[in-house]
Amino acid sequence: MKKIPMTTPLVEMDGDEMTRILWKLIKDELITPFVELKTEYYDLGLEHRNETDDRVTVESAEATKKYGVAVKCATITPNADRMTEYNLKEMWKSPNGTIRAILDGTVFRKPIVVDCIPPYIPTWKKPITIARHAYGDVYKASEMRVKKGSKAELIVTAPDGIETRKLIHDFSGDGVIQGMHNTDRSIESFARACFEFALDTGEDLWFASKDTISKTYDHRFKDIFAELYEKEYKSRFEEKGITYFYTLIDDAVARVVRSEGGFIWACKNYDGDVMSDMLATAFGSLAMMTSVLVSPEGAYEYEAAHGTVQRHYYKHLRGERTSSNSVATIFAWTGALRKRGELDNIPALVTFADKLEQACINTIRQGRMTGDLASLCTLETKNILSSEEFISAVRENLEILLNA
Ligand code: NAP
Ligand code: MG
Repeated sequence: MKKIPMTTPLVEMDGDEMTRILWKLIKDELITPFVELKTEYYDLGLEHRNETDDRVTVESAEATKKYGVAVKCATITPNADRMTEYNLKEMWKSPNGTIRAILDGTVFRKPIVVDCIPPYIPTWKKPITIARHAYGDVYKASEMRVKKGSKAELIVTAPDGIETRKLIHDFSGDGVIQGMHNTDRSIESFARACFEFALDTGEDLWFASKDTISKTYDHRFKDIFAELYEKEYKSRFEEKGITYFYTLIDDAVARVVRSEGGFIWACKNYDGDVMSDMLATAFGSLAMMTSVLVSPEGAYEYEAAHGTVQRHYYKHLRGERTSSNSVATIFAWTGALRKRGELDNIPALVTFADKLEQACINTIRQGRMTGDLASLCTLETKNILSSEEFISAVRENLEILLNA
């Protein structure tokens, strides 16, 4: 069989530990035998980040801006333990944080649904994608403890020096206060990313906040979404046959639980943090959750939502058998290859991505899976495969689909 050609390189961001092992296996077994793979390679493994004073992370994000599509392996975010383990010069920042800051993106997380791994919510038939605003609010807040008898006020000094004050609270006992912010620019780029993503996937978009209580702050989010929708997206949504829907966050939570799934749920930063963990768990496994960062300029960075699976890596290093789930990492590759195929008009690449995803699902349906899924799966006969055996089984199914 002739290999599928590519025109523009993918930005490839390699990573750490068990996912780095899976990364190589995926490329060698599932991609390069079938695709004339073109990538611009950036090694974001912690050792190389340390050697380059983390410049490699910045360069990989800049390359993503240039080429438009990246695929990323999970990476270690250093903490005190990692400083000694890797003898680091500095406690380098989270690569995902650095990349997000450069691309100014929104993160979309979507579970991979297989019928023999039923979600905990029986009505959910289709995946629910969470879009989390990744800037501001409580994540960039100033907080203080306040003594009894204190008066707390919000003070804003305008460029002309004029002060506006608003009472927060007169404290008759000890307490706490918090000041947080967001910017119209960030909210608008979040809204734009959500509208674009909905058009791209052909799914309805929901957005929810607490504007009845937060009549200025949350209301600003609601207004920016509504204005942008009316001005730029309404007719495109109608053409595509999808809807934009705003509701209160509490109503959204109730509706999500009763829904069939199959839509995008845009959340403010904190709601998205909490709700994405709820959704990942309710859909089954963190190892079956994909993640894509979309910038307002339309650059895409695909990855798995889970980490480097450190515990499995240490087993691997001791020469023990591991059963690490590579599905979300495979789907990061298929997401990136499909997007490259769409942008460069290479239908064979798009079809290949579809078939590789189908091969993963077929493999699990045949009862061949990694340990994390076995406990969730409803099939009678289940075969727990090692990390390597699972990828070989996917390859078997992929070859069947490619030769059909
Ligand atoms: P993790 O790597 O997601 O793993 C947590 C646990 O979840 C694992 O120990 C394993 O459970 C299970 N698990 C996750 N992915 C799995 C998979 N593919 N197959 C099978 N089981 C899976 O999170 P962590 O252990 O908290 O973090 C490890 C490192 O990853 C840290 O250095 C952290 O900074 C980094 N991290 C990176 C990213 C990213 O790059 N996007 C995201 C999160 C964390 P059992 O051990 O019980 O089998
Ligand atoms: Mg969280």
